[in-house]
Amino acid sequence: MESVYSRREECCGCSACFNICPTDAISMIPDEEGFLYPLIDQDTCIDCNKCVNSCPILKDNSFKEERTPDLYVTKHKSIDVLMSSTSGGMFAALSDAILREDGIIYGVDFDDEFKVLHKRAENPEQRDRMKFSKYVQSDLSDIFQQIKNDLIDGKSVLFTGTPCQTAGLRGYFRNSRITEKLYICDLICHSIPSPLIWKDFKKYLEKENGGELTNIQFRSKIIDWTRENSNKTFMFKTTANEDYVFDERYYKLFFGLKTIVRPSCSECRFTDVHRTSDITIADYWGIEKYAPEWLDLKGVSLILTNTQKGDKLLELISQDIHFEKRQLKEALNEQQRLSKPVESPDNRDEFWKIYKEKGFEYIMENMLG
Ligand SMILES: Cc1cc2nc3c(=O)[nH]c(=O)nc-3n(C[C@H](O)[C@H](O)[C@H](O)COP(=O)(O)OP(=O)(O)OC[C@H]3O[C@@H](n4cnc5c(N)ncnc54)[C@H](O)[C@@H]3O)c2cc1C
Repeated sequence: MESVYSRREECCGCSACFNICPTDAISMIPDEEGFLYPLIDQDTCIDCNKCVNSCPILKDNSFKEERTPDLYVTKHKSIDVLMSSTSGGMFAALSDAILREDGIIYGVDFDDEFKVLHKRAENPEQRDRMKFSKYVQSDLSDIFQQIKNDLIDGKSVLFTGTPCQTAGLRGYFRNSRITEKLYICDLICHSIPSPLIWKDFKKYLEKENGGELTNIQFRSKIIDWTRENSNKTFMFKTTANEDYVFDERYYKLFFGLKTIVRPSCSECRFTDVHRTSDITIADYWGIEKYAPEWLDLKGVSLILTNTQKGDKLLELISQDIHFEKRQLKEALNEQQRLSKPVESPDNRDEFWKIYKEKGFEYIMENMLG
């Protein structure tokens, strides 16, 4: 096999091919924008086609559910959980339910240098590090193989990730019989930014502020949870300052310019109500219009239950949350990513050309408006 994909837009970087390759012929290598793509070592490849068969982009229906999901508005009963979560604390509720069964959680954490990556958690302390959205594509490395080992050991497993990552996990397991205790949770995903730009941004903050980064939150409820306020309250601390510093520039780079997101996001197949997971979680944007009694400035979530396992998860967490069934059209009205991908801006190529020629500092100082 020469390559799993033919155009960059056709690879979401889910790493299913890398994880499934029986001869370790595939490596995930960053391109010049910092996104990981599979590279096949021709000497080791045995042309078994497992990589192609696990790929959610090449698969006709991308491992999506046929069922039209049920929509719920929900929030965690604990104010502490709400204040330590991005939205209404659904990840905490779901992961608590699996941890209660002595299960394992896979979610997104930082390493010591704030690189964004998937990790394994077997207790609440490790799980807590996975809370809060990190607006950077995570490195999955061999996580799917680790999940397989946990399932073989008879553990319940909850995996959380973007829809393309959960589709990749489904592609990795395909018709495997060991997935009875695997629960898959995806997010509604706007699009996913470049790990290289994130690395540059961290360096830039350290240079500007002195010291090393010690704490980062991409979104916060310092003002409140609303779309207007929470997305713009990126905040960080460094060894040089004890207090949080607020900074809107990452928000401008990501949501404003839109030039730093993965090429495949503009052709995303997962912007659909037919999901690649058992349960989907997101913010319940617009709840004040449809059911004002549900508005809580500390956070409100939406849940889509996509399978029987999703229904079971909702039942398992029902003791920890308030919830009510709603009309699916409310989510369709508010969440563009349930119907269409992000548009690639006309100046995307120009942006990366300037990045290569003049560097990240030039972008920060001249292109953020
Ligand atoms: C890149 C990205 C784009 C998003 N776009 C939207 C959107 O358009 N509309 C919307 O309503 N919600 C969106 N969300 C989801 C939203 O921000 C919350 O993550 C979600 O509502 C869960 O909140 P919570 O309070 O239940 O959990 P929290 O306690 O905040 O838990 C965060 C969860 O997100 C996972 N996660 C964090 N970072 C990443 C990452 N980089 N990649 C994969 N998974 C990650 C963690 O593993 C954990 O499961 C997006 C999230 C991300 C990461």
